[in-house]
Formats: sequence, C-alpha cells, structure tokens
Amino acid sequence: MPVMTDFDLRDLPQRELADGEVRIANRWLSVDPYMRGRMNDVKSYVPPFQLDAPMDGGAVGEVIESKAADLPVGTRVQHMAGWRDEAIVPAKGVNKLPDIDLPEQAFLGALGLTGMTAWFGLLAVAEAKAGDTVFVSAAAGAVGSVVVQIAKAKGMTVIGSAGGAEKVEWVRSLGADHVIDYKGDVPLVKALGAAALDGIDVYFDNVGGDHLDAALAHANQGARFAICGMIDGYNASQPTSLRYLMRVIAARIRIQGFIVSDFMGRIAEFQQGMGEIVAGGNFQREETVVEGLENMPDAFLGLFSGQNKGKMLVKL
Ligand code: NDP
Repeated sequence: MPVMTDFDLRDLPQRELADGEVRIANRWLSVDPYMRGRMNDVKSYVPPFQLDAPMDGGAVGEVIESKAADLPVGTRVQHMAGWRDEAIVPAKGVNKLPDIDLPEQAFLGALGLTGMTAWFGLLAVAEAKAGDTVFVSAAAGAVGSVVVQIAKAKGMTVIGSAGGAEKVEWVRSLGADHVIDYKGDVPLVKALGAAALDGIDVYFDNVGGDHLDAALAHANQGARFAICGMIDGYNASQPTSLRYLMRVIAARIRIQGFIVSDFMGRIAEFQQGMGEIVAGGNFQREETVVEGLENMPDAFLGLFSGQNKGKMLVKL
C-alpha cells in the first residue's frame, strides 16, 4: 500500500504557451485504481509514473489562456493532465465537453471513461444480454454501480457484491436483485451460491482473488467473464491462488480481459446508449468528493479501503 510520503505537493514555475497549446484551470480531478499499477516500474498498457515528475490522470477544467483557435478561453474541457491545479496541454490532447445538461464532473464518471468501461465490458466483452444472470464485484464503486444499472436497464438479473451494510443497501437501491456483503460472515463462494441458485452467465470482474474464484465456482456452461480489474491484487505481495480455476474447462468459460481504450472508436455508440439510460430518469450518478489538491493522495488511497460510493473525485 502506498504511503503519504510517496507523494509530494510542489509549486512549479509558470511558463509561456507555445502555439497550439492551452492553459487549463482544473476543477475536477479523477483518482482511479489503475494509477496504483503506474506506481510499479514495469511495462504495461500505460507507462509508469516517473519519480520527481508530476503524476497525471483524468481531469475536467476550463481554458483560461489559449494559443489554439478552436479552444477559446472559457471552453470547458476534459483531458489527461490531472493531479495538478493548472495544466498546459496541446489542443489535440483535449476534448471539449459535449453540450449535455449534466454537471461537468459526470464526464469523469458515468458519462466518461468509467461509464465506457462499464458499457463495453458488459455488452461487448461479456456479450451480456437480456435474461442473463450477471455477477459484478465492487458493485458500489464507480464502474460497478454503472454496470449494475446498465444490466438492469437491459433486462438482466444482477448480483452485486460490496463491502459493508450501507453499500449493500445502496447497490440494492440501484436495482440489483441480490447483493452480497463480501465482508460479512458467510464465505463469498457460499453467499454467491445462495444468491445464484441457477448459476451465473456473466461475471464482470473488478476485484479478482476470492471474487473471481467464487464466480468460477458458480459459472454456468459457456459463461463469459469480462476481466476489468483485480483491485484485490494491486497492493498484494503474494499472488492469489484460485481453487476453482479448473472449472474453466468443464464449464467452457470464456475469460476475456480488456482495456477501455480498446473501444475508443465506439464512443458515439456509448454516448447514445448511456444517454438514453440517463435520460430515462432513474439513473443514479453517485460520487464521493474530496476537496483540495493537497488531499488527493488521501482520495486515491481511499479507493483501496472502500472510502468511496460511486466515482471518487477531487474538487479544486
Ligand atoms: P471503484 O470506484 O470501484 O473503487 C474501488 C472499490 O473497490 C472500493 O470502493 C472498494 O469497495 C473495492 N475494493 C478495494 N479493495 C478491495 C478488495 N481488496 N477486495 C474487494 N473490493 C475491494 O474503482 P473503479 O470503479 O474506478 O474501478 C473498478 C475496477 O475497474 C478496478 O479494478 C479498476 O482497476 C478497473 N478499471 C479497469 C478499466 C479497464 O479499462 N480495464 C478502466 C477503469 C477501471 P468496497 O467497499 O465494496 O470494498
């Protein structure tokens, strides 16, 4: 687990903009579990953070100075130069916020990469369809809570898992048919068996470890597993062993990992589909907000002890 002394808040000197760049006052910053992986000096799908250089990540803010004709001062934008209050970014690294009547931070959550992860992981990777029984772990988290709601909107039976009574209640209020408190007394594999009497057709994995093992134990023939994340292992020093892994063979389970960036070419499809669900009026867009740049490491570390309901955000 990272510690506070791994982080440092530093003032850097201002610099002039070059042609094609904009200066952005950030208003909302995203903290995400994948950032933990970037703290390991290993090759992965995103490069590791560099020591003594600013961290980065998703952010939403407003252009306050511009040398890019199509991004005038006042434009509200989403970009990847987070973990700072002010950013200089080339125009090509910036997305204008769409003209939708939602708070701007929604574009770091349900209407942004978080929502896209849920949408494509469930519908494209796991090929979930009406009538399927879907199990989703970290169901009270940013991605998980959107998965629950998409699955319900599309006629699936949903089993979620979350840590603690309050989160369990909240996931139920999102429409989940059964919710397991994985921190409760009943072992997860037993609790899932009791919730999924007819087995599961889809597992949306945010956690790995015991959750993945329990899903293997109760998977139906031809079940599809979308492996989105394995937060249980991000700070672990020991690999987990899976007791039920061999069920992959007998039950012909298809296990597919994915990265949301695989679906960047299909943003329009996501915006259309998710827009319809949000416009339906029942969608719960929950967020946990920590105030102040200096508290960003706290917000980030809080992801690993379940401090958030819905999307964890930092407000400046
Ligand atoms: P969340 O909002 O879900 O935050 C993390 C949550 O995970 C916590 O609130 C906590 O909830 C739960 N958690 C933390 N540690 C454990 C543990 N050891 N065992 C079980 N649950 C735990 O984060 P996101 O929605 O942003 O991300 C969810 C997952 O999706 C992550 O694994 C992330 O890496 C992955 N991801 C993958 C993407 C991709 O492209 N493949 C894109 C975005 C996210 P609780 O209180 O219930 O324990």
